[in-house]
Amino acid sequence: MSGPSNGRRAIDATIVDVQTVRVSPTVKPELVVAGARGVHDRSDFLLVRVVTSAGVTGIGEVSATLTWSGEDGATGEYLIRTVLAGAVIGQPIAPVADLERRMDRALAGSPFTKAGLSTALWDAYARTLDVPLAVALGGPLHTEIPVKCSLSGDGDRLRDTHRAAAAAGFGSFKVKIGLDPVADAERVALARQLCGPDAFIGLDANGGYRRDAARRAVELIRPSAPAFLEQPVEPGDLAGMRQLRDLGLPIVADESVFGTDELVSVLRAEAADVVSLYIGKSGGPGRLVSMARLADAFGLTVVIGSNGELGVGAAAQLQAGAAAAGLSTHIPSDIIGAHYYQEDVLAEPLTADGRTARLPDGPGLAVSLREDIEARFVSVTDEQGHRFDAVPAGTGTAQALRRTDNPNP
Ligand SMILES: [Mg+2]
Repeated sequence: MSGPSNGRRAIDATIVDVQTVRVSPTVKPELVVAGARGVHDRSDFLLVRVVTSAGVTGIGEVSATLTWSGEDGATGEYLIRTVLAGAVIGQPIAPVADLERRMDRALAGSPFTKAGLSTALWDAYARTLDVPLAVALGGPLHTEIPVKCSLSGDGDRLRDTHRAAAAAGFGSFKVKIGLDPVADAERVALARQLCGPDAFIGLDANGGYRRDAARRAVELIRPSAPAFLEQPVEPGDLAGMRQLRDLGLPIVADESVFGTDELVSVLRAEAADVVSLYIGKSGGPGRLVSMARLADAFGLTVVIGSNGELGVGAAAQLQAGAAAAGLSTHIPSDIIGAHYYQEDVLAEPLTADGRTARLPDGPGLAVSLREDIEARFVSVTDEQGHRFDAVPAGTGTAQALRRTDNPNP
């Protein structure tokens, strides 16, 4: 990473290039997660790098999966190279929020893809200021975040997953449920037996139950002393979520909340006690921090959730989590990064003991990529037909799209 420049010249720097590289890490066989949304054994992700006119670079990660938002590394690469790069190239690096608005005008939806580019922009901005990203985001409010690991599968499969997680130091867990109350109760009972009587164990149904099945599952699982119930029913059933709060377990909203509008709906419906915020669902680290502030103002506790991030994404979770108001110290977050995969993309892994994720020292995300991955980045300007020239503020791809491609102006 290049060093910062000082003063006004640096903050006036513009985005001069956007670069991408696809990565497809394999999940450690013993940690493959099988939940109500299917089996996840490999990730198809994208790394993003931005370069400013001051020579500062920033990196980000599109940690997207098709079952979550209809995005992955391939769609992320396409959307960044054909649309989003053109929305930010030539624009000032600050304020980053303005660049995010330009991305929203140029492209509907696709929050995980926008989050990858947004993370790279925030990293470059914080490196320009020569401060940690958590500081650029208004923190840090915390320098250590408790973490947990997901357990899934039945019988020997669950034993293997638990053994691998315990060997990595994890002491807090989340068990995947949401398929069948009786089988789910057996799985959680085995998890309790493996993890010990004092271990923290939460439940995540990934929206797999109907209301009555969720109620029955909690009755059956209650002897295993679960600490929370995440997304018991489908994302839109906020009335059901609210009803299930009478079970006496903290209800965590995950799939119910992507962006700010959905957070507001959950707050209005009083549908949850806790909200799980992701860098990807919210559209980037800055928006995650804004959403945490809103949740906290209305008494909702925040945890940082995961879409199986690699090291860059985990560093972004850590920096944004450190700046997030209302972050739970009781319910651990899902910042596990490289632990999940056979190999990591970072030159130096984040320190991880399975219990606590600690904010690293240094500007921006405070991580750097392996040299062989750095060498594989391809600039958006390298491809014929995808050349973005610097454009004055207020013009460019967004406006061009509006003129030619938007059927609902
Ligand atoms: Mg979840």
